[in-house]
Amino acid sequence: MNVILLGPPGVGKGTLASIAQERLGLVQISTGGMLRRHLRLGDELGIIAKAYIDDGELVPDSVIIDMVKERLREEDTQGGYILDGFPRTLYQAEELAKFADIDLIIDLELEHEAIIRRLSGRRACLSCNGTFHMSMLQDETTCPTCGHRLEQRKDDLPETIAHRLEVYEEQTAPLIELYRKKGNLVVVEVDGTVEENYQKMLKVIEENQ
Ligand code: AMP
Repeated sequence: MNVILLGPPGVGKGTLASIAQERLGLVQISTGGMLRRHLRLGDELGIIAKAYIDDGELVPDSVIIDMVKERLREEDTQGGYILDGFPRTLYQAEELAKFADIDLIIDLELEHEAIIRRLSGRRACLSCNGTFHMSMLQDETTCPTCGHRLEQRKDDLPETIAHRLEVYEEQTAPLIELYRKKGNLVVVEVDGTVEENYQKMLKVIEENQ
């Protein structure tokens, strides 16, 4: 099964996609995670992407689409995948439809105040890509998964968060209507604990299999 996780930054797409990968074997394809890896490597794609990511802007469509197209050609995605953070523009959605068969779109929803709380308290591991809320950490500087250093992402600073939410409303939210019209979109309210939210999402996946 091939799934798209839609929803604003900070709603929990990455966390839920990573649990789905672990428990259901759906391969998590996180465009943000892929870009941050390029950033760390300092390669050409990383250099192009850095300024956009730091400013909370979207990386140009052409760059992202080629990156996802290439990733979906890899063997491990053939048994099903979950797209986390892609598509984010109408053009990306149109292009995706040309090279992928998507079975289900899950739109994760949460009120903006809760999102801002989540993002501003978020700490990220640049090594394993895990993200954790400060309130859940005994040691705010060390990744509980891999032991590397945790940092606050530049794009999780308050002024950038506000901008990312604006960008989401302008460029990504119109996808909800697009997929609703196509008839394969389900909304999941993610206002519970991680496990509760995952169970809600799992129910939707099972009902649509
Ligand atoms: P995320 O980790 O999904 O919040 O992504 C972090 C940043 O990577 C975003 O704020 C964008 O700058 C960039 N990015 C990730 N996915 C996309 C995409 N599908 N289109 C454009 N930019 C993206």
